[in-house]
Amino acid sequence: MIPFDEALNLVLAEARPLPSESAAVLGCLGRVLREDIQARRPIPPFHRSAMDGYAVRAADLAGASRERPAVLRVLEDVPAGYQPKKIVGPGRATRIMTGAALPKGADAVVMVENTEAARDSVKIFKPVAAGEDVVPAGEDVPAGQVVMEAGTVIGPAEMGMLAAVGKSRVKVSRRPRVAVISTGDEVIEPGRRLRAGQIRDANGYSLFGLAQAAGADARFLGIARDTKAKLLTKLRRGRSCEVVVLSGGVSVGDYDLVQDILLAEGVKKIFWQVAIKPGKPTFVGRTGRQYLFGLPGNPVSCMVTFSLFVRPLLDAMLGKRELGLPRGRAKLAEEVRLKTGRRHFLRGVLTYVDHEPRVSVLRDQHSGVLRSMVEANVLVDVPGEVTGLPAGAEVEVWYL
Ligand code: AMP
Ligand code: MG
Repeated sequence: MIPFDEALNLVLAEARPLPSESAAVLGCLGRVLREDIQARRPIPPFHRSAMDGYAVRAADLAGASRERPAVLRVLEDVPAGYQPKKIVGPGRATRIMTGAALPKGADAVVMVENTEAARDSVKIFKPVAAGEDVVPAGEDVPAGQVVMEAGTVIGPAEMGMLAAVGKSRVKVSRRPRVAVISTGDEVIEPGRRLRAGQIRDANGYSLFGLAQAAGADARFLGIARDTKAKLLTKLRRGRSCEVVVLSGGVSVGDYDLVQDILLAEGVKKIFWQVAIKPGKPTFVGRTGRQYLFGLPGNPVSCMVTFSLFVRPLLDAMLGKRELGLPRGRAKLAEEVRLKTGRRHFLRGVLTYVDHEPRVSVLRDQHSGVLRSMVEANVLVDVPGEVTGLPAGAEVEVWYL
C-alpha cells in the first residue's frame, strides 16, 4: 500500500494535455480553452451614450435650472446602431439613444427626464458634468488586453466574452475518450429482471456520469462477466480510448481477475493498493498511451476513487490549470471517530451556519451505501494518523 499523494503523483507523472481542436463557441460550455484570447479592438469600440437623452457640450449648460433652462438647437436624431453625422458645436445638441455613438463635439449626455423638447430645440433644466452618462470606448475591455488565458474552463460569461471579441470558434482541448466497463457475474443491466444473487449495475452509470461531468467523451461498454475472454473482448472495444475505467474484480478474491488479465496483456502497473478508505484495492496501469483504472466494485469506492485518481488525470489531459476536485475548509458539526490508520474520505454534507461552512459527516459510511453519495456534497479528508476529531475541528473538504 502506498500513500495517496504518492499514488496520485505516479498517475500524473506522465500525463500530458491532449491535442487541441477547433470548436464553435456555442458548443464550448465546460470545455477547456487552449489559446490566449486577446481583444484586438476596445469594447465598446466607441464612446457611447448610457441614456436616452441629448448629447451636449457640458459648458453650454452651466447654471441651467427649471426657471432658467438652457436652450439648445437640436441637430439630428441618433438611434443605437447609427453613426452621428453632425458635429455638436456651441449651443447645439443631438438627440441620442442608449448605446448610440456620441457625436463629435459633445462631451456629455443629459437624460431625457431633465429636458423638454420643442420644435427644433430642447430646453434643459439641469447642468451636467463633462463625461456624464458617456461610456468611454474600452470601458469593458481596452484594446490589446488578454481577456482569457489558455487553460480557462469556458462558462457562460466566457462564451459571451469570446463572442464580444469577435470569436465564433476557438481552440479547445479534444475530449479524452473514456471507456467504462463494469465487471461481475452478479451484475446485470438495469432493465433486466433480477434473479437470485443478482444486483443491478450501478457503477457503470455513475462512472459514465463522472466521466461526462469531467468533460470526457464517455463510452459505456457494458458489463463483462468474470472471465478472461469476456473481459478481453470489452478491453479490445475500448482500445481507441485514452482511459479505460473498470469497476469490480480488483480485490484478492478468487474471481478478482482484472489485475492479472491486464498484466498478462502487457499493461504496466503504476500502483495497486493505496492507503485510503474507501478505495484501498484500486489498481492503475498503463499501456502505451492508454491508462487503465481497476476501481473497487463497491459503488461508493469506485466513485470516490474515480474522483481522486481519474478526474485529475482527465483534468491534466484537458490542459486545466487546477487538477482534481476543488477543495476548501469547514468546521465539523459533530465529533468523528475512526478506526484504521488509512486516510479517510468521508461522505459529508456541507452547509452554512451564520455564513460559516459547517460539515456533517453522514452516519452510514459503508462503501456499499451509494445513498451516501446521493446525499453528500463533499468528501471530508481525514489524514491517516487521525483516529478522532472533536466537533468544531477544522477539516479539508473536497467539493463533489
Ligand atoms: P468486487 O470489487 O468485484 O469484489 O465487488 C465489491 C462489491 O461491489 C460487491 O458487493 C459487488 O457485488 C459490488 N459491485 C461490483 N460491481 C458493481 C456494479 N457494477 N454495480 C453495483 N455494485 C457492484
Ligand atoms: Mg466482482
